[in-house]
Amino acid sequence: MDIPDAGVVFENLGTTIEVVVNGTTSFAGTNYRLVQFHMHTPSEHHVNDEYFPLEVHMVHQGIDDESRLAVIALMFEVSSGDSSSIISSLSSSLPAVAEPGSSTEISSGIDFSDVISTLATSDIQQYSGSLTTPPCAEGVTFLIVKEPLAVSVADFNAIKKIVKFNSRFIQNTLGEANMLDVGAVSGLNFNSSAPAQNASAPAENSTVTSVHEATVELTADVGHAHAEVCLSLSLSP
Ligand SMILES: [Zn+2]
Repeated sequence: MDIPDAGVVFENLGTTIEVVVNGTTSFAGTNYRLVQFHMHTPSEHHVNDEYFPLEVHMVHQGIDDESRLAVIALMFEVSSGDSSSIISSLSSSLPAVAEPGSSTEISSGIDFSDVISTLATSDIQQYSGSLTTPPCAEGVTFLIVKEPLAVSVADFNAIKKIVKFNSRFIQNTLGEANMLDVGAVSGLNFNSSAPAQNASAPAENSTVTSVHEATVELTADVGHAHAEVCLSLSLSP
């Protein structure tokens, strides 16, 4: 595993805590740029009616077609052992982002090795939603990674204390866009002063399909994207 030893910015947006990263993911023939990942407690997605204490959303934007969006959703189980590397890489920085608006740099970057190995073995469920109202992009592909990663008891409690409850309630209609993700993306494509309510476009859709495990490939390349992302939108979960 070759992870660049570059720093990343870790920030508290008030609605979630987020790490601004850069990388590439290829899925179904489309190359995506990894923009950021952020957290939800508890999980927004349920797998076979089961919820998880923590869900991480890795938000991607199409490289050739920036209107194409993809979110990899990672589930976490509380573990008596250590956290997966994506969490352990940032856990010592949690106190620095305890307050909304605060941010810090994680100089050693994020270790995605546990994420990459899980993507290689897990079943992945895909669904897509089409956003119908500007300034939202045309489509968001959600990739739900069914095999959970680990978060230690101490790390989970620390994250929960900061993130609090920020999951949308489970909806009857699959594919409805997540406010945080849409808001984050509208911050990417448009001026950050765009009204947050523009991000509330409901999604049409939706079918769920299984994706072969080998079709998702993530290459982590951390620490280069902060200037490209402006996430000062004020969103209510
Ligand atoms: Zn999210």
